[in-house]
Amino acid sequence: MDEINYKDPKMECVENEKCPMCQKDTLTLYETEQDVPHFGKIFIFGMQCKDAECNYKQNDVESEKASDPCKIEFTTTNAKDMQVRVVKSSEATIKIPTLRMSVEPGIASDGYVSNVEGLLQRFKKIVEAERDTADEPEVKKKAKNLLKKLWKIECGDEPVKIVIEDPSGNSAIISEKAVISKLKVSKK
Ligand SMILES: [Zn+2]
Repeated sequence: MDEINYKDPKMECVENEKCPMCQKDTLTLYETEQDVPHFGKIFIFGMQCKDAECNYKQNDVESEKASDPCKIEFTTTNAKDMQVRVVKSSEATIKIPTLRMSVEPGIASDGYVSNVEGLLQRFKKIVEAERDTADEPEVKKKAKNLLKKLWKIECGDEPVKIVIEDPSGNSAIISEKAVISKLKVSKK
């Protein structure tokens, strides 16, 4: 979820809180829930600053049924797979091994409920930014090739394996084809 949906009847908001970034009283806290078919209830919560210059926001998701650290593997084989629901918590790492791409959790890492297409779009945005800002022609060329591949994947012309590793256990790919296994959490 990228914007607060005020039409959501389940949405609960607390407005005019202090923003941790700009320190103004323009922060809206919100919480809502969504029933994801074949999965269960998901709580979506976050904050968004209304100050146009600040625009700070942070989202996360949590599933009702708490589970163990998990690793989810899903291979797309057709265009229909793009509509498969994805729940990604802020602690999850997403990897696309064949493209040598990964998104690690971090301070700016968001949780969201989307689908495979939405997940690939987020990867696409990162590669597009790389293509547009890179100085070296080699990096540019690599980014362009990656975008072509991502486009083929979206059309279902090329299969791709997506791996989500979530120590919080809140992430999911909701498909019979998804392979879920225990994630070994390395102790720091
Ligand atoms: Zn702010």
